Amino acid sequence: MNDLPMTAEDEGFWNEVYEILVEKAGAHPSLLEKMSFVRSQPTPEYRFIGRLGFGGKFWVNLGRIYVNCYQEDMTDERRAIIEDANQALSSLLDLRFPRCEGCGARHRDSDDEGCSCSNGTSSR
Ligand SMILES: [Zn+2]
Repeated sequence: MNDLPMTAEDEGFWNEVYEILVEKAGAHPSLLEKMSFVRSQPTPEYRFIGRLGFGGKFWVNLGRIYVNCYQEDMTDERRAIIEDANQALSSLLDLRFPRCEGCGARHRDSDDEGCSCSNGTSSR
């Protein structure tokens, strides 16, 4: 699917992702919606709608996590929302799953072994 290390076990991470979707992109703030999101991850695309219209989706794709909307629904306001949300998602990913300085692969910040590549040095 991609080179991202997150799994369904990473509930704390998915909770943080959903909080960004709520705060930045208007996803529904109810606990039920959050649980539904967290339980479905990781999935390549998840429709949350929010302030991005029917095409308002969260993507786990090509080593990135991001939101977007349908091209035909794009407005200046939505472009700004998407930019803001994606910056927050990218920062969260770098914080929780920092890149190995040797090979660029991501690993958990709580993983004591860090990366298994020969250059494996964590940036901690
Ligand atoms: Zn490495």
